[in-house]
Amino acid sequence: MRPRHIPVRTCVTCQTRKPQSELVRLVKDAEGGILISPPRDVPGRGVYLCREQKCWVEGIEKGRIARAIRSSVPSTDAAAIIAWAKNSLSDTAKNDAAK
Ligand SMILES: [Zn+2]
Repeated sequence: MRPRHIPVRTCVTCQTRKPQSELVRLVKDAEGGILISPPRDVPGRGVYLCREQKCWVEGIEKGRIARAIRSSVPSTDAAAIIAWAKNSLSDTAKNDAAK
């Protein structure tokens, strides 16, 4: 295996640094819409979060996503983001409790 540069990004909620491929990108586009994991070439202010429900829920509830994209998150978008996280991401708190 030859060494190669792995881009590292920081989760806006828990501040954990991880390889970019292990995080999910959220972008605020030019119209102010919020996109989850858009194609790489979508322009806009992007932030990264872990693939964990709690980072997305806390990111919304504690305003960390809003601060990171320097814009408030409309309540309809906030609800959609939380719904997406609950449908798409693992709930580590629940998994830990089951062990
Ligand atoms: Zn995180």
